[in-house]
Amino acid sequence: MAQNKLHVRRGDTVLVLSGKDKGRRGKVTRAIPAEGRIVVEGINVVKKHVRPGPKVMQGGIVDQEAPIYASKVMLVCPRCNEPTRVGHTRLEDGRPVRVCKHCGEVIDR
Ligand SMILES: [Zn+2]
Repeated sequence: MAQNKLHVRRGDTVLVLSGKDKGRRGKVTRAIPAEGRIVVEGINVVKKHVRPGPKVMQGGIVDQEAPIYASKVMLVCPRCNEPTRVGHTRLEDGRPVRVCKHCGEVIDR
């Protein structure tokens, strides 16, 4: 499914719905709308082998988060701390904002 807009953004806390990190929460550190994927802090960590080179003085194995599909996570509302679907955005001060379906609070500041 091609989509160029994600329901989560950088800085959001999300709940992972499937995969090896199912049930865990983390903060979105990177959003890749073109791929429909996101990178979440501490989620889907893979061992990456790094060769010594101009940028990295010492080779070895480093832990790095690999992107996961945004459709596999649920946004966690920063107000009520519940995983939630995002309600239809409404306008506030002329800008569209996301609204939590649990508590009705505006998620975006
Ligand atoms: Zn809420």
